Amino acid sequence: MRKTSEWRAERNRKALARLKKALPKIFPPPVLTHALNRPFIPPMPRRAIDGYWRAHPIRADRLARALARKSGTPAGWTWRLATSGKSDLPMSFRFPPMPYRERGFARGPGFCGVCGQPVYRLGWHVDLWREGRNRNAKWHAVCVAAWKFWNAPSDHVRLLKRLQERRCRETGKRLHKSAEVDHRVPLFRIWQEHRDTPWPQLLGFWGMANLQVINREAHAAKCAGEANYRHRVRAAQAQV
Ligand SMILES: [Zn+2]
Repeated sequence: MRKTSEWRAERNRKALARLKKALPKIFPPPVLTHALNRPFIPPMPRRAIDGYWRAHPIRADRLARALARKSGTPAGWTWRLATSGKSDLPMSFRFPPMPYRERGFARGPGFCGVCGQPVYRLGWHVDLWREGRNRNAKWHAVCVAAWKFWNAPSDHVRLLKRLQERRCRETGKRLHKSAEVDHRVPLFRIWQEHRDTPWPQLLGFWGMANLQVINREAHAAKCAGEANYRHRVRAAQAQV
């Protein structure tokens, strides 16, 4: 035990020395505070920034969508899915649509493929250094964290449970260990019924406002209800 903590202290001393050496004069203070309080101090500024957003997925979700709102929907863009493996479009409606990653709408070097806004030094979203955009960057650190959250919210089930005070959103009962993350408005319905929502708002369906943790049995019942609903929609469409 003691050996491990000595080893960690030594490792942290070295990491801190490296970080201080590499740290630009201007650096976001909350990121630095977070880095210095980690059990393992990140040795590079970029790793400190990535670690900060990884630890704050809900903040990242909110900010990435705010940046997307600044960009708006590119003119002429509609949400489409890939029909072949080679396409730059998403393969399924389960992935959030990303117009600024598509060849026809990408804004070029130094613009984020997730939100469409300029990327600055260290993948930051504000030009704290007044250097202009970083032409080698393809996305913001914050948007990468948001993208991961949107695509795999289950990775954050513990955090989401805590925010719900461990109560099931469907039944109001205490959440079990096996409780699952669910999209309140299911993703297939977004594709079927909300496809024409302006893009920045569309992203909201993958964000915090559309997520809930529910007990597994409640989830199974909800999914059965949704399958039933899909079946009815298909039957109605067949009749037309
Ligand atoms: Zn971005």
